[in-house]
Amino acid sequence: MASGRLDLDGNLIKPMTICMIGAGGFIGSHLCEKLMAETPHKVLAVDVYSDKITHLLEPSGGVSSPSVDRIQFHRLNIKNDSRLEGLIKMADLTINLAAICTPADYNTRPLETIYSNFIDALPVVKYCSENGKRLIHFSTCEIYGKTIGSFLPKDSPLRQDPAYYVLKEDESPCIFGPIEKQRWSYACAKQLIERLIYAEGAENGLEFTIVRPFNWIGPRMDFIPGIDGPSEGVPRVLACFSNNLLRREPLKLVDGGQSQRTFVYIKDAIEAVLLMIENPSRANGQIFNVGNPNNEVTVRQLAEMMTQVYSMVSGESPLDTPTIDVSSKEFYGDGYDDSDKRIPDMTIINRQLGWNPKTSLWDLLESTLTYQHRTYAEAIKKTTSKSTAC
Ligand code: NAD
Repeated sequence: MASGRLDLDGNLIKPMTICMIGAGGFIGSHLCEKLMAETPHKVLAVDVYSDKITHLLEPSGGVSSPSVDRIQFHRLNIKNDSRLEGLIKMADLTINLAAICTPADYNTRPLETIYSNFIDALPVVKYCSENGKRLIHFSTCEIYGKTIGSFLPKDSPLRQDPAYYVLKEDESPCIFGPIEKQRWSYACAKQLIERLIYAEGAENGLEFTIVRPFNWIGPRMDFIPGIDGPSEGVPRVLACFSNNLLRREPLKLVDGGQSQRTFVYIKDAIEAVLLMIENPSRANGQIFNVGNPNNEVTVRQLAEMMTQVYSMVSGESPLDTPTIDVSSKEFYGDGYDDSDKRIPDMTIINRQLGWNPKTSLWDLLESTLTYQHRTYAEAIKKTTSKSTAC
């Protein structure tokens, strides 16, 4: 196992204990895998679910076996469990990933969204601050809201000027819609917890790092409705489109799929998080955008590329009508709104950690859709044949 590993300044990295809250989710599962495979660190994995990390917790099989004694699962809900403080005290570093973070919830379950992203994170910040423990907190690129450029006239040449759309951690404003657009409940709760953490740093010396992920995608993201999640559930865009492709249904494009997004491969992004974990003197006190500005597409283009890649991976020809348009009201309900465009500025993460994303959108979709096909195609066929037999 990795010993004698050096940080970016040439110092020996000491093994540490990490309390990872939300370790059973998409990002947490990849981070646990990375820590077990490539580092000597221990993980106290906190979550209400463990399905995505069972391969690391079981004593048999593959990559998992050397990790078993370095990862411990604690099934607890941070809303109401007194064991939380003890776990934070036992660790050198706490990473908080726990959140409700699917857009379909922001306007339909705004109270739970606000509680989960702000109120439930408060004790984590407090225990870290009071016990002198380092905190890496997961925020979101949604906290930038809309770009300044989106308020310019449609034909303004300034819309092409990066100064009006590139999102910078230390300069860009956070621009949200009105309160009745409840979509912004998530972004606003994340913004307030960022401000609180920043203030704990300024007033009480909390050592913190804030991560703003820009659409990290890859295997194990969310669920496929009716297979490993509720039939009526609406996961994030990657799983929604995967579900449509697996079921041979047209992909639903909300409001024409005109929003622009940048997508980064989860494995590239996890490299950035590992650099933060192991280089505290470069990461403390920083807010980092983590995304891939080279992988920008409209959601419509994403749907088209996923259709092409899935056809290659599955050997099935695409449908004659691969996409259909739906309104945001029909798809998400009242109170939905959206950011137009999200391009991360990479200056700070480049300067502090020398990190750059590597994987192209085509390549990351190829490995992700290969995983989706291998994991779900048979199960979907079975449920479809059952329902036709009834
Ligand atoms: P995820 O939903 O897959 O993982 C979150 C995990 O937290 C889940 O396993 C959930 O069970 C757990 N959790 C939630 N509330 C909990 C509670 N009260 N007690 C214990 N566990 C709880 O989401 P993810 O994609 O892994 O995202 C992790 C973090 O990164 C979130 O804070 C999210 O807002 C942020 N983020 C992610 C992305 C992305 O691209 N994936 C983008 C922006 C922000």
